[in-house]
Amino acid sequence: AASPNAPVPNAPAAVRPPLPVLGLDVEVPLATGGTVPYAALDYAASAPALRRVWDDVAAYLPSYASVHRGAGHLSRLSTDLYEESRRTVADFLDLPEDRQVVFTRGTTDSLNLLAAALPAGTRVFSFVTEHHASLLPWRRDGLRPVYLPAPRSPRQAVAALREALASAPSGPGLLCVTGASNVTGEIWPVAELTEVAHRHGVRVVLDAAQLAPHRRVSVRELGVDWVALSGHKLYAPFGAGVLAGRTDWLDAAEPYLAGGGASRAVECRGDGTVAVEWHHGPARHEAGSPNVVGVHALASACRALTDAGPDALAAREEVLLDRLRAGLAEVPGVRVLGLFGEDHPRVGVLSFTVEGRRSSDFSAALSAEYGIGVRDGLFCAHPLVRALLGGAGEASARCGASGLSPIDGRSLDAVRVSFGAG
Ligand code: PLP
Repeated sequence: AASPNAPVPNAPAAVRPPLPVLGLDVEVPLATGGTVPYAALDYAASAPALRRVWDDVAAYLPSYASVHRGAGHLSRLSTDLYEESRRTVADFLDLPEDRQVVFTRGTTDSLNLLAAALPAGTRVFSFVTEHHASLLPWRRDGLRPVYLPAPRSPRQAVAALREALASAPSGPGLLCVTGASNVTGEIWPVAELTEVAHRHGVRVVLDAAQLAPHRRVSVRELGVDWVALSGHKLYAPFGAGVLAGRTDWLDAAEPYLAGGGASRAVECRGDGTVAVEWHHGPARHEAGSPNVVGVHALASACRALTDAGPDALAAREEVLLDRLRAGLAEVPGVRVLGLFGEDHPRVGVLSFTVEGRRSSDFSAALSAEYGIGVRDGLFCAHPLVRALLGGAGEASARCGASGLSPIDGRSLDAVRVSFGAG
C-alpha cells in the first residue's frame, strides 16, 4: 500500500476545518515505524474539543469557585457564568420560554433522569433501533416500555407509531426517538413522529446526541417536549450534558439525586424523622456540586457552533461525506449500512462492512498502518446493527465525517488504500 503521506493523484484540495479543533497535530506511531498526525474519524463517539472551548476553559480555570451559595466575589462570578450557560443552551436549542435546562452528565444520564421522573404507568414507545441510552432507561418498575420493530423507511416508522398509539390504552405516554443514528447517521422524521404522538396525547423526548453536533435543533420547530444531548459529542470535553424541556413532570417527581442543592429546607422533627422541602426547577435534579467547568465548556461549544452557522457547517459536511462515500464506493466489497435507503439524508456519520474482512481487523489496520481512528463493533445499538447486517454476524466499522472534522484527502485516501489492498 502507498505511504499515507504520499500525494494522492487527482485528490481534491484538503478540506480545512471551519472551526479549529484540538488534536490535529498529535503524532501517532505506525506499526511500520515512524509517526503520522492522528486522523480522528470517530467523532460520533467523542469529538475533540474546539480550540475556542479550550481558550474559554483556560481563561476560566484560574478563577472558578463554588456556585449558588458562595458569597465571595469569585463564587458570584461562577454562579453568573453557570446560569448564563443555561441561557446559552436554551438559545442553542431554541427552547420556548416556559421550558428549563437541567445540566446532567450526558445523554444517558438525561434519559435516565427523565425515566425516573415519569408518572407511574407511563407507556414509553421507542424503536428497537435506538441507541441503548434511548432503549434501556424505560425498563424500570412502574413504566411500560413498548418497543417498535425496525422500520425500513421514515414513512414506515410514522405508520408503525400511529398503529401502536391507536391501540394503546389511555394514560401518560412518552415517545423516545433519536434525531440522527450514531450507526448510520440517518436523520429520523422527528417532526412527523412528534405530530402523531401529540395527536394521541403522548409526549416526545428527542435524543439529540448525534443530531445537535451536525444540524440546528429547534425545539420550537420540532415540537418535542424534551431534548437530551452530551457535551463530549459537541466539541466540549466529557462530563456535562443537558435535559431541556417541560417542567411539570420533573417538578412533580422525587429529585433524581437526594442531597444539597436540591433541597430548599431540611428540618429534624421531634419524632426523629427529617422533613425536606425540595426545590422546583433545574436545581431539583442537580443535587451535589455541579460540573461548572464542564457546563462552561459545553456552553462555549454551543456559542461556537451558532457563530459558525449550522447551515454552513452542514453544507461543508455534505462535501466531506460525498468524498467519503465516493472513496468507499471504489473499494470492492464495501457496503454502507442504512435502514432508509441510499438517498435518505444523513449527518456525517456512516458505517460500512467490507466483504471477507472482519471489522475488528480492518479498523486495527487503519490505526496501525495509517494512524486513522475509527470504531468497530455494535456501537451500543445491538438490535440496530443486527438488523442492518441481516444476521451476517459481522460487525461494521464506523467513520464520522463531521463538518468540523480535520479529515482531509490524506485520511480519506488511506481508507481507500487500505481496503482496496484487501
Ligand atoms: N444517544 C446516541 C444516539 C448516542 O450516539 C450516544 C453515544 O454514543 C448516546 C445516546 C449516549 O451518550 P453518552 O454516552 O454521552 O451518555
